[in-house]
Amino acid sequence: MKKQKITLTPDIYFENVCPTLNMNIRSELYFTNEFTFAVAVILSAQATDKKVNEVTPSLFKIAYSPDKMLDLGLDGLKKHIKVISFFNNKANNIIKLSQQLKDKNSNCLNYKFPQKYHNRNELMKLAGIGQKTANVIMNVLWDTPNIGVDTHVFRLSHRFNWCSDKENTPEKVEEKLLKIIPQKYHAMVNHTMVLHGRYTCKALHPKCENCPVNKWCCAKDKKI
Ligand code: SF4
Repeated sequence: MKKQKITLTPDIYFENVCPTLNMNIRSELYFTNEFTFAVAVILSAQATDKKVNEVTPSLFKIAYSPDKMLDLGLDGLKKHIKVISFFNNKANNIIKLSQQLKDKNSNCLNYKFPQKYHNRNELMKLAGIGQKTANVIMNVLWDTPNIGVDTHVFRLSHRFNWCSDKENTPEKVEEKLLKIIPQKYHAMVNHTMVLHGRYTCKALHPKCENCPVNKWCCAKDKKI
């Protein structure tokens, strides 16, 4: 009798992949407080975390709060981030974001977003913060069960057949993942799939021989 293949369910995936990763670090982006994390996430759109981490330690030493970012100014900020893709647009957004966040607490070394922004709709009213960025911020900073769908989450969801061709936008993928992944994993979905996608389940050359879910995976482009 033909042995039935066990497919890679979300439960099997998270149970087996999470223990192989450092789950204490919630993001590979360098940041010093909630404001600098938001800035780092904005800078990371269509850029690698590694590239962003090359410029942010010196930037965040001087521009660690909305007030300090405004003191640095648009031209000063552009000088720091000019090696990052779309730096002009990102700099404009970061300065606007700093203006929007300016209040009596906006010069703190340990800046925290006002409570009203612990809400996706409010967060998305801020410059440079779209749905994916808002999800990542809420998920990493406040452990909320949102799923930030970046390129890795999008790609792996389709590779594992968790999503079909119908789920062709980050929003639709998030909606589907929230339905099929048990809630206890929601806060760790983005981090787990980003790291697994970045280092093991790569787009062109997945390292299937080192993959903790190899025996369950039925991906069409699996290597062994
Ligand atoms: S076995 Fe290969 S294709 Fe499947 S999840 Fe692992 S790395 Fe990705």
